[in-house]
Amino acid sequence: RYRMPRPTHRRVLTVANQKGGVGKTTTTVNLAAALAMHGVRVLVIDLDPQGNASTALGVDHHLGTPSVYECLLGEIRLAEAAAVSTASPNLLCIPATIDLAGAEIELVSMVARENRLKQALSEEALAELDVDYVFVDCPPSLGLLTVNALVAAKEVLIPIQCEYYALEGLGQLLSNIDLVRAHLNTALHVSTILLTMYDGRTKLADQVTSEVRGHFGPTVLRTVIPRSVKVSEAPGYSQTVLAYDPGSRGAMSYVDAAREIAERGAQMDVPQRQDGR
Ligand code: ADP
Ligand code: MG
Repeated sequence: RYRMPRPTHRRVLTVANQKGGVGKTTTTVNLAAALAMHGVRVLVIDLDPQGNASTALGVDHHLGTPSVYECLLGEIRLAEAAAVSTASPNLLCIPATIDLAGAEIELVSMVARENRLKQALSEEALAELDVDYVFVDCPPSLGLLTVNALVAAKEVLIPIQCEYYALEGLGQLLSNIDLVRAHLNTALHVSTILLTMYDGRTKLADQVTSEVRGHFGPTVLRTVIPRSVKVSEAPGYSQTVLAYDPGSRGAMSYVDAAREIAERGAQMDVPQRQDGR
């Protein structure tokens, strides 16, 4: 069975786009599940008060569950909030409860308000969880929660929906990323763009695809995620599409996208091994 290459250095990817409904959460949980099911250890941080990533990963997130909120406040360790996803024993999730809805405002008056997630994701904390990848699922805004996610990661993954106005608002996200890089996190860069909800029957989808590729070049993954009913049904069963219908085009395309990400990362970080291991 194919195993995803493990990165030599732990990779932290923030999945961001301030537009709602572009596929951030779907992309986060399915890429994470694809990597985990192929042998690497993955942590998903649910940073959206809606808790959709927690739901899709089959992780409890009712009020009172130890969550990312307490981690941001520094009240508990990451490991105390981490729950194993039903998707894979290699997949952990820090759930979001409704408490997180207040955090956007509460953070404003806190010390080191932009660095809270970074502090929670210390080397020590991640080593304790023994994960190779961390994916942070952002809320649909450019507020302090998203800023925390951008400070805590090296890589940004932007899902772009193959729709009208796909690029609208992206400039704002990119200039926020530039600001964070200039002032808070010099290592931050957009490493990955993933086209989602591609509908091959429309001419528009191809126009958007070539526009995005023309604009962002090789940052855009070759794999495109098709619009598929299975993908949208899966969260209703508290599942990733990989568990819900592993043979579906949606599931297979997320595995392909995950493999591209893993292989790129391996190229970035690891000198090619001669022994083929
Ligand atoms: P975001 O996190 O950016 O708000 P979601 O991942 O929640 O976006 O996706 C928005 C909606 O679109 C959800 O109902 C989701 O199930 C659906 N969806 C996402 N990707 C696909 C896809 N490839 N095909 C069909 N529906 C999709
Ligand atoms: Mg979401």
